[in-house]
Amino acid sequence: MSDTTTLVHEVLLAEPRGFCAGVDRAIEIVERALTKFGAPIYVRHEIVHNTYVVNDLKAKGAIFIEDLAEVPPGATLVFSAHGVSRAVRDEAAARGFQIFDATCPLVTKVHVEVAKLAREGFEFIMIGHKGHPEVEGTMGQLSQGIYLVEEVADVRHVRPRGDKLAVVTQTTLSVDDAAGILAEVKAQFPHVREPKQQDICYATQNRQDAVKVLAPQVDVVVVVGSPTSSNSNRLRELAERLGTDAYMVDAADDLQPGWFDGKPRVGLTAGASAPDILVQQVIARLRALGAVSVRRMHGVEETIHFPLPMGLGDKSMQQVAAERSAPRP
Ligand code: SF4
Repeated sequence: MSDTTTLVHEVLLAEPRGFCAGVDRAIEIVERALTKFGAPIYVRHEIVHNTYVVNDLKAKGAIFIEDLAEVPPGATLVFSAHGVSRAVRDEAAARGFQIFDATCPLVTKVHVEVAKLAREGFEFIMIGHKGHPEVEGTMGQLSQGIYLVEEVADVRHVRPRGDKLAVVTQTTLSVDDAAGILAEVKAQFPHVREPKQQDICYATQNRQDAVKVLAPQVDVVVVVGSPTSSNSNRLRELAERLGTDAYMVDAADDLQPGWFDGKPRVGLTAGASAPDILVQQVIARLRALGAVSVRRMHGVEETIHFPLPMGLGDKSMQQVAAERSAPRP
């Protein structure tokens, strides 16, 4: 079927969608480090989970590594937005690299809470996905006494040694799944201490809330995001659970016209690590498939901005204001 066949009629854009404050900050840290110190800049793990962003920074001189042994002495190293364990932080410091920490401040908040409560004798249940770098970083704040729970059934296998137990979560989980697991944790351990403010971050919550409004109004939901992006995967799953066909695309070329056969209303959103340029390219492709109307949903306006680390300066207030007021589709 050719792109000239009219399949799509209208596109509804979720609001908010795309970059969050933590991703914005992490990318800017790498770009500023490249400008200030020159290439190469080493980055431990993908700075954020998006193929386009990583390739763009590679082209500018960033080198992404997993093992600190790949970083030469005296190099500049950036920790990714997902955060690192204490062992990684200590090894990087011992090797004498110049370090800039792009860990999202909302992940750092969880690390600080874990360290504080551990000093008070607490053990932890962490709700999250095994192998995700954020989970490895948070669990790696302690050498013992933190138990990973991925689903409700896992809660039965947790055997804390003492009475003091607290719960923390990965920041990018499904809000609904996490609530179900937390309910089981509270049923099994009625005295468990919950975070004062939930760990699932504002950006994850807002993007999931927007999909809950979007999905019932359209025939198909398209999520722009890379396969490694936790919050993008959760958006696709959520739309599907709400009974709407849902697909995730890393780039506009991934769109398949057959998805829209007899389904003219398309909802479009993007994970927190997906840049707006990819959304614009997907919109252009949907127009080529016949879309005559592209509308934005009403949604929460996000105004959060995180400052840059010392040594890389911060944007001027005028620059931040100018970026916020830049037109979006
Ligand atoms: Fe921070 Fe949330 Fe964005 Fe992750 S998704 S970088 S926790 S704001």
